[in-house]
Amino acid sequence: MSARKRLTLRRDEGAGVRLGRPWVFRDALELPPGLASGDVVDLYDARASYVASGMVEPESPLTFRAWCLEAHEPIDAGLVRARVAAAAAWRSAAVGADVTALRVCHGEGDHVPGLQCDVYASEDGRHRIAVLRTDGRIGVAWEGPFIEAIVAAHAPTGVVVKNPHVDDGAARVVRGTVPGEVAIRERERRFWVNIREGQKTGFFLDQRDNRSLVGRLSRGLRVLNLFSYTGGFSVAAALGGAQRVVSVDIAGPAIEVARRNFTLNGVDPSGHGFEAADAFDVLAEVATRRGDYDLIVLDPPSFAPSAKSLPRALKAYEKLNAMALSALAPGSWLASASCSSHVRESALLDLIARAAATAGRRVVVAGVHGAGPDHPNRLGWPEGHYLKFVLLRVLS
Ligand code: SAH
Repeated sequence: MSARKRLTLRRDEGAGVRLGRPWVFRDALELPPGLASGDVVDLYDARASYVASGMVEPESPLTFRAWCLEAHEPIDAGLVRARVAAAAAWRSAAVGADVTALRVCHGEGDHVPGLQCDVYASEDGRHRIAVLRTDGRIGVAWEGPFIEAIVAAHAPTGVVVKNPHVDDGAARVVRGTVPGEVAIRERERRFWVNIREGQKTGFFLDQRDNRSLVGRLSRGLRVLNLFSYTGGFSVAAALGGAQRVVSVDIAGPAIEVARRNFTLNGVDPSGHGFEAADAFDVLAEVATRRGDYDLIVLDPPSFAPSAKSLPRALKAYEKLNAMALSALAPGSWLASASCSSHVRESALLDLIARAAATAGRRVVVAGVHGAGPDHPNRLGWPEGHYLKFVLLRVLS
């Protein structure tokens, strides 16, 4: 028997947790008094059968995160270290050796709930920066063991931690030294990554393989990359031989980095467009004509940060897709992504179907892709499949 405190499920969510769902929300739980964030607890169902063990955050609606399905398994710094090492063991084999930036630990997907880490290394090996993003107060409580585990598995030259509950999520350098920027390599592409100021951990590594796909399609095309951030898809298109690439992001500093990323890749930015603007406005204007672009990439931020915001978010995605399809002539391409975990793949395909009908376009789906293999997913947990990337060919 375990001496840990017990949480009891009010509703029968035990079956889902046993199959892989890592989260239980507060409204499904009865909590004993005296729990602190980061405490290790055992979860029992309403019939008093053991379900799982994990960590608790009593202040958060996302109250329980499962780590183990065996009551006797210790949940401690040693387990964090073992799980981080297990994730590290297969990354390079799955992703390939021609990258210097990887998600080395993908939270729930690597059975290390709430703890994520990207490593950004320079090609010369001088810099090897681990950027940890930890969720909630569990992330704060377990920060120390997580840092130790990452240091043991990846030998970084610098470690940065971001957690919304500490310094408002600002980047904190907790080990070594961290330069303002690191130039990473991703297959044939190179990118400046701003470690401290960049969005999320600095770069959207999850789109790596989708960038390669866009690169393959782009020869000779006029490409519009909306929500471009620092030009990930834009650089891929330019290196793939695009005739002209226009990058649009509302964040001026990101657009400036996009321009510098062209130079870093030996592409003269003066032949391409860089606009710090609202993508909805740009697209509304482009959609008044048909045929200015042969490939449009739509990779908006999550419009649905919560389940409550989902209906409005679906409308916004549909509007964007309808405008983009209106702008495209037969024989062109739309690459349409959603990174919201609340938007299921089927919902995204449904709204694209409605958008095509609104725009009066006939399209085929030339592939539905997700995040790369360094962003593994769990079975039994569809929300984990957060990134969807749909490639559409416009027929007429
Ligand atoms: N495609 C990028 C990642 C996009 S992240 C890559 O592969 O790296 C989403 C981006 O949308 C962010 O850079 C954010 O600044 C931008 N954004 C948010 N709202 C916007 C809007 N209304 N118009 C244009 N860009 C916007």
